[in-house]
Amino acid sequence: MRVNSLEFENFRNLEKNKIFTDKNTNVIFGENAQGKTNLLECIWLFCGGHSFRGSAEKELINFNEKFAKIKLEFTSQDREQNAEIRYTGNKKEVFINGVKKKSGASLIEKFSCVVFSPEHLSLVKAGPGIRRKFLDGALCQQKLKYAKYFSKYNQILNQRNALLKDINKHPKLQVTLEIWNENLASFGAYIIAERIKYAEKLKENAKFFHSGISNDRETLDIEYVSTIKEINVDNLEEIKEKFLAELNNKLKDDLYNGYTTVGPHRDDINILINGMKAKNFGSQGQQRSAVLSLKLSEATVLSEILEEKPVLLLDDVLSELDSKRQDYLLNKIDGYQVFITCCEHNDKKQLQDGKLFVVNQGRITEE
Ligand code: ATP
Ligand code: MG
Repeated sequence: MRVNSLEFENFRNLEKNKIFTDKNTNVIFGENAQGKTNLLECIWLFCGGHSFRGSAEKELINFNEKFAKIKLEFTSQDREQNAEIRYTGNKKEVFINGVKKKSGASLIEKFSCVVFSPEHLSLVKAGPGIRRKFLDGALCQQKLKYAKYFSKYNQILNQRNALLKDINKHPKLQVTLEIWNENLASFGAYIIAERIKYAEKLKENAKFFHSGISNDRETLDIEYVSTIKEINVDNLEEIKEKFLAELNNKLKDDLYNGYTTVGPHRDDINILINGMKAKNFGSQGQQRSAVLSLKLSEATVLSEILEEKPVLLLDDVLSELDSKRQDYLLNKIDGYQVFITCCEHNDKKQLQDGKLFVVNQGRITEE
């Protein structure tokens, strides 16, 4: 998958323009607040989702204007295609190959990107909720069944938690807990098995990328840590039994707390560099490299599903990285089209092949 050109009008602070992109690496260079992230966001919007900054759609329109228009020409499955999105206030219109679509969701099947932005550093730095969200987000995107089971699991979990609180007041209700345990364990077993399988795939690819970024100096490892022990991913019935046993073991705690203390909603992934937790012991550069490796690994797994490589949007990745690590990102990611922003003259000089775009107060020029 690759972007061939990008056109925009009244999009955030970007001056009306059409740019023709390189099929491999595109560096977007400029000082702070010039429009680099806006340009990446513009590409990202063609994936059919919302702004990766979580902005409302009307915020995408230039402050002084009433509408915005963005257009992408891209190649997917060896076919040249185009998509256009028009924003007018709270309304959005999507056209694919000139045909108006009912909703933006139709873009999802057409064009895909993986984005890294500095907020993703929380994957290493923050608590387990972010890491679970990373796994669940990817799995929900890949498998409809996972999305359904995940939503079911959360519903049942909420109901079980409400019941735990009620039992404290009305102990007779305890007999009804069994049915919720049964359902929770059924859906939960599937979620755990899928997450472990996905984490295994991520691990292999992330190892490969991290060793590239770190010049073979570091080993990255990812391990799924479940509240249910000794899991055989090929035996859902056995996982369910273990989950049920653990729910019974923790019943006192759960009743005391008024919520469920075991299950995939309490699981985590450990991100280890040279065997040590990146969160506690990793340097800034190591943490950044680990998250980048995870995101690149996510892109690789996605490529297998799409049978095509998604476009990589790397925002502000180069800061905190030494020149060898930067060189890997700029020149050694094979087969992907990459868009990478930077604000240091020295960083952009490292680009060996590809296009350099300079952004100055919303005006984009090719160098
Ligand atoms: P940094 O290096 O600091 O990340 P950047 O080049 O990535 O900077 P952007 O995030 O792309 O900068 O934003 C550039 C400018 O766009 C901001 O100063 C912001 O005020 C402006 N901007 C955002 N939305 C709009 C809008 N709807 N209309 C006009 N300008 C906007
Ligand atoms: Mg930015």
